[in-house]
Amino acid sequence: MGHDTSLDLLTRAFDRFSKWMSQYAKPTVESLDGDEIQVRAAEVLTSLAERLEGNYPFHSGLYAGQMLKPPHDVAWAAYALTMLINPNNHALDGGPPTSQMEKELIPEIAGMFGYKHGILGHLTSSGTIANLEALWVARKINPTKAVGFSSQAHYTHARMCEVLGIRSFVIPTDADGNWDVDFLEQNASEIGTVVVTMGTTGMGRVEPLHTILPLCKKMGIRVHLDAAYGGYFSLISRSGEIDARAWSLTSEADSIVVDPHKHGLQPYGCGCVLFRDPKVGLFYKHDSPYTYFSSDELHLGEISLECSRAGAAAAALWATLQVFDLGAGGRMEAVLRDCRNAALTFAREVVAANNYILIEQPELDIVVYCPLVRDESGIRSSEISRKSSEIFHAGMNGDRNNALFVSLYQIDPVQLKSVLPDLIQDQEKITVLRSVFMKPHHKMMTTEIVRRLNDLYRQTD
Ligand SMILES: *Cc1c(COP(=O)(O)O)cnc(C)c1O
Repeated sequence: MGHDTSLDLLTRAFDRFSKWMSQYAKPTVESLDGDEIQVRAAEVLTSLAERLEGNYPFHSGLYAGQMLKPPHDVAWAAYALTMLINPNNHALDGGPPTSQMEKELIPEIAGMFGYKHGILGHLTSSGTIANLEALWVARKINPTKAVGFSSQAHYTHARMCEVLGIRSFVIPTDADGNWDVDFLEQNASEIGTVVVTMGTTGMGRVEPLHTILPLCKKMGIRVHLDAAYGGYFSLISRSGEIDARAWSLTSEADSIVVDPHKHGLQPYGCGCVLFRDPKVGLFYKHDSPYTYFSSDELHLGEISLECSRAGAAAAALWATLQVFDLGAGGRMEAVLRDCRNAALTFAREVVAANNYILIEQPELDIVVYCPLVRDESGIRSSEISRKSSEIFHAGMNGDRNNALFVSLYQIDPVQLKSVLPDLIQDQEKITVLRSVFMKPHHKMMTTEIVRRLNDLYRQTD
């Protein structure tokens, strides 16, 4: 389906909804709708289109860099349509239909993690805010205890702990990402909650929940899952395509964060937080003199740290889930499978010409790799860093026929030592290349991406 068709669909829905809107008075007014304003707005939109060309082509299969892609057409069309009236999901009377949609979709999202009926959850403006809420609840439950997470955790956890005034621990891990269980045991009395990352932002690793969770249960430590990036991959753990050991235990976590604006085909502004025990809702209790009038039913603003939230975000996610269902064998599962298969194919193809090596096999759809450069003294880490940067910049500055967009990533030398035992380590950190294959159409592009990478390898010699 091309964008024209989607525009047609949007226009039809727009026409229908405008009819309803026109039943209520909305006079035009000079200060907002004057002729000059219309003319100026048209000009500005043209210059906006021009300025947007300053982006990297996030929509393209040749963009295999950071976690960036456009939302699905159904999501942006639903968002745009809803924006005509701009409901606020803070309170039921701020957007009755979109609040209802949010209530309907939360159990579906929760179901990906085996969370059953009766859990508490809502959408947020981002993964960061969703994690903030989960850590805020962690502090409410264990006011004097610390939060622990590994060095692979998203950088915002340390920051949010600072915001909340909670102490935090970095739990040491080995080169493969296994947690130092002895450290956890030794510090158990001080740690109230641990954050386990299900799909690390850097390498897409799923932290070993199956070893961490039983231990935490034994020691009375709460478990929060940061599945902002990786959450949707639980869909393909059911068929055993990815290691299911960690995923099969998600329903036992105390709270979970997932970002529909990462793998759920949504525009930015759509995170989600879920709590297994609905009683945590009591922590949110507050009185608001101006918002809740319409009913005694649950207002989402009563269980959310944020006040105003875009009803359009709920509408977009709701609409998307009607098309891309989360069921076994459903359309969303196919999307995740395509992304992971693209990463696996790329990982196989990129090493074929011996110009590149993998830092490790991809677990989800993120591949970390680097050019192999050898001089008379051997393989030096500084040379790998230099060449990675050159390839990155040359790709980004290439013309239409040879441009390629990847990203740079810094790793610890120990991570490279395991694949290059004779590495001469002459740097603290090594810069390597990283590609996120989060677009299903990447699976048709891996050969072309690898061809361009091999060209770039030769050009930068
Ligand atoms: C992206 C990400 C976050 C932050 O989410 P935002 O939506 O960018 O605020 C947190 N944790 C992980 C693992 C992430 O990948």
